[in-house]
Amino acid sequence: MIKARHISKHYGELKVLNNIDLEIKQKEIISIVGPSGVGKTTLLQILGTLEQPDKNDNSLIELDGQKINGLKKKALARFRNENIGFIFQFHQLLPEFTALENICIPAFIHNTSRREAEKRAKELLGFLDLGHRAKHKPNELSGGEQQRVAVARALINQPKVIFADEPSGNLDSASADKLHNLFLKLRDEFDQTFVIVTHNEELADMADRKLEMKDGQFV
Ligand code: ATP
Repeated sequence: MIKARHISKHYGELKVLNNIDLEIKQKEIISIVGPSGVGKTTLLQILGTLEQPDKNDNSLIELDGQKINGLKKKALARFRNENIGFIFQFHQLLPEFTALENICIPAFIHNTSRREAEKRAKELLGFLDLGHRAKHKPNELSGGEQQRVAVARALINQPKVIFADEPSGNLDSASADKLHNLFLKLRDEFDQTFVIVTHNEELADMADRKLEMKDGQFV
């Protein structure tokens, strides 16, 4: 599903990633752990095409057989919207839109009709136990509900992989548990692949593989 080879990243003089190799299979949940500042988010953003690795003729990032490093900006944005979902620590829902509308936004960008997008969004809301919250705005939802809406938004275009950065970092433990169990359910029922950066030990240990970073590499 994902193949990354010789991925390095400097910010000026600071060497953050040092020649990382990584392979991820479909339906795997990968957790990436390590101390603060070690480069976990940077790696996630590079794999998710939000950040560029250092230029290196040997470096490669492939998603489902397609090489993505080297794609031009516009092609990259289209590829990202079609193939990748993101979940962040702070859900980043748009406050003026309802849960249903927030979930539909990536589908609209993808030129899906309103009717089709809303149909899918409603199915997702039902699957995530949020059918009764479709018309609520983010400030009318609990933190856990807001984060589950963000999961639905990440799923709407049926991405090949979801990258999640501290998805439960802002949740109480009951909401975090519910979110973690949801990831397992999505893996088991939809073959969904996840790459998750987390400081949450339960989430890290629940993954199919836990990768620990140190000095810009996996240990
Ligand atoms: P945390 O667990 O605290 O979120 P992390 O392991 O995810 O940390 P990163 O956010 O990837 O770490 O940051 C790695 C290093 O790169 C840090 O020293 C950070 O300050 C630096 N860094 C990250 N983004 C940039 C940037 N855009 N410009 C310059 N330095 C950056």
